[in-house]
Amino acid sequence: MPTTTPALIADSSSSGFRQGTIEHRDLRPDDVLIDIAYAGICHSDIHTVREEWGPAHFPLVTGHEIAGTVAAVGEEVTRWSVGDRVGVGCLVDSCGECEMCLDDHENFCTKGAVGTYNSKGYDGEWTKGGYARQVVVGERFVLRVPDAIELSQAAPLLCAGITTYTPLVRWGAGPGTKVAVVGMGGLGHMGVKLAAAMGADVTVLSQSLSKEEDGRAFGASDYRATSDPQTFTDLRGAFDVILCTVSADLPVDQYLRLLKTFGTFVMVGLPENDQSVNFGSLISGDKAMTGSNIGGIKGTQEMLDFCAEHGIGATVEVISAGEVDAAYDKVVGSQVRYRYVIDTSTIIPAD
Ligand SMILES: [Zn+2]
Ligand SMILES: [Zn+2]
Repeated sequence: MPTTTPALIADSSSSGFRQGTIEHRDLRPDDVLIDIAYAGICHSDIHTVREEWGPAHFPLVTGHEIAGTVAAVGEEVTRWSVGDRVGVGCLVDSCGECEMCLDDHENFCTKGAVGTYNSKGYDGEWTKGGYARQVVVGERFVLRVPDAIELSQAAPLLCAGITTYTPLVRWGAGPGTKVAVVGMGGLGHMGVKLAAAMGADVTVLSQSLSKEEDGRAFGASDYRATSDPQTFTDLRGAFDVILCTVSADLPVDQYLRLLKTFGTFVMVGLPENDQSVNFGSLISGDKAMTGSNIGGIKGTQEMLDFCAEHGIGATVEVISAGEVDAAYDKVVGSQVRYRYVIDTSTIIPAD
C-alpha cells in the first residue's frame, strides 16, 4: 500500500502551491526513504511550474535541491543506514548500463536520465520532487552530505553547486588562473565561492555593484558592473575562464574579448532567446565557447566533499511552506540573497 507525505502541490501553471498530500511508492529493495529537512528553490522549478519550458505534468511537486536524513532503507540497500545525512539532486534514475552511465555521466544517459520531478520514470510513473516531507529514491542517486555542511546550506549545492563545480573543474579553475563569474544569483554566488576555494583569482561581473560586499566576502578579488562600458575596456584579455550564469540576452562578443588567448567561455545560464556570436571573436585567440549541464553522481559527491573540506555552503534564506509563491516572484525579480530554502517541516496539509 503506498504511503502518503505532506507536499507543496501545484495543480496548474497559474495555481500557485497548496499544501496537501502525495503518495510515494513502497520501498523497492534498492530504495531509500528520505525525511526531507530542506528543499532549495531553483529557477528551473519556476520555469517548469509556469510551463515556460513546455507543458508540465500536473499535479506537480517541484524541488531538486533536497537535503535530509535517511528514514528507512530497502532490504538490499547496503550503502545507507537510517539517520544518515543525505541529499538528492536533479536526477533520480538512469539506465546504469550505457557508456555515459558507466563513465559517471548519468546526467547524459543515452537512454535518458530521469529528472527528480516532472519526469516519467522507467516504471511509467511521474516523478515528484523535494517540496515535501519525504521522498523515495534509488540508492544510486542518494548523496552523502558531510557533517561539516548544515543541511539548509547543503540543499542548494545539489543543483546550483554541481552546476557551477563541473565546468570550473573541467576548465581548470585553480591557482594561477583568472576566472570571471557573470551574474551573482543562486548559481553565480556558488561559482564565486567554489572558484575561490579552488584557488582561482575571481572577478564578479554583475549588472550593478549592489552585491559587491557579498561577492568579495564569497571570495572575489574584484567586482565590476557590466552596465559600465569601462569594465569591458579595463578587463580585455583578462580571463582564462568566464563562467556565465545569467539567463538574459548578453553581448557575447564583448565577453569573448575578455578572455585570454586559449580562454574558455562556459554557459550555464539559459537565455530564452537565441544569441549571436561573431566567430572572429573565437578564431582570433583560439578561444572556446561551451556549455555545461549539472554533473554525474560521482562528481556531485566530490563537490559535496570539496565543499565540506573548504567550509562552503550556499548562502540561504530559510522560508516556510506558505511563503513559496511569494518567493517565486522574488527569485524572478532577483531579490533573493542567494537561495531560498523551504523548511519542509512547515508543510501542513489542509485536507
Ligand atoms: Zn536546479
Ligand atoms: Zn545510461
